[in-house]
Amino acid sequence: MSVAGRRLTVAVVYPDLLGTYGDGGNGMVLARRAAWRGIDVELLQATSDRPLPPADLYTIGGGEDGPQVRAATSLIEDGMLAERVEAGAVVLAVCAGFQLVGRTFPDAADRPHDGLGLLDVATAKGNGPRAVGELVAAPAHDAPHTATGDRLPRLNGFENHGGMTVVGPGSRPLARVERGVGNGGGDGSEGAWAGRVLGTYLHGPVLARNTALADVLLGWALAPAGSPAGATVELEGLDDHEELALRYERLEAVDGAGGTGWRSRWARMRTGR
Ligand code: GLN
Repeated sequence: MSVAGRRLTVAVVYPDLLGTYGDGGNGMVLARRAAWRGIDVELLQATSDRPLPPADLYTIGGGEDGPQVRAATSLIEDGMLAERVEAGAVVLAVCAGFQLVGRTFPDAADRPHDGLGLLDVATAKGNGPRAVGELVAAPAHDAPHTATGDRLPRLNGFENHGGMTVVGPGSRPLARVERGVGNGGGDGSEGAWAGRVLGTYLHGPVLARNTALADVLLGWALAPAGSPAGATVELEGLDDHEELALRYERLEAVDGAGGTGWRSRWARMRTGR
């Protein structure tokens, strides 16, 4: 199906509150990858002083505990995000964003706050040290696949959070941690998803370091109106060699030198893994 000429609105949610970790870059990645396919895309910076605008695809980023509470309270009062998700909009929620689209999360004083309940996940303060560092996770076998039916390549990014998240039966874990902490709830999972809402602890921005995931989200957003969750469209391939170079530079930094010389690097570049 040709997507050229289609219209798409991408909104970065509350960059004034949830802009600490550079996750606003996810909106830029989505908008650029859409525009390169001939899509008429609008990228909105939806600040918290105004009602949330309607959009097809929302990205929510990480932030400190205080702004995270303000963002959740405001998004619940505003109502637009829940309404748009009900209508089929796609959401990528990272770290504080992931926690606040869940059922509950703690503030700095460890008091629980209501999230939006778009994902069945619950976050509490962890007992151990803050999870900080590179994070690599292999997508779960039932995680979203690419439009051509392939499993997503390993996900990589960095994490920086004190909250630990447990995935309930109404959502599914996105990936299994290979390196780092991820959700930290004891089951080795990273991130969660349900319908067209996907949450993760991966910063990077995650879509700059995992372009296949960006195309999964775009495919969902461009599926014909009224399609069931999971419906997607196949998008024309892009020249991702710069993004892949970043990806392998970071994976190599985590994996170390053993077994990741140039031969395996090029083999992985060809397969995207
Ligand atoms: N404030 C949250 C925590 O520490 C989220 C942090 C973040 O978004 N990086 O768990």
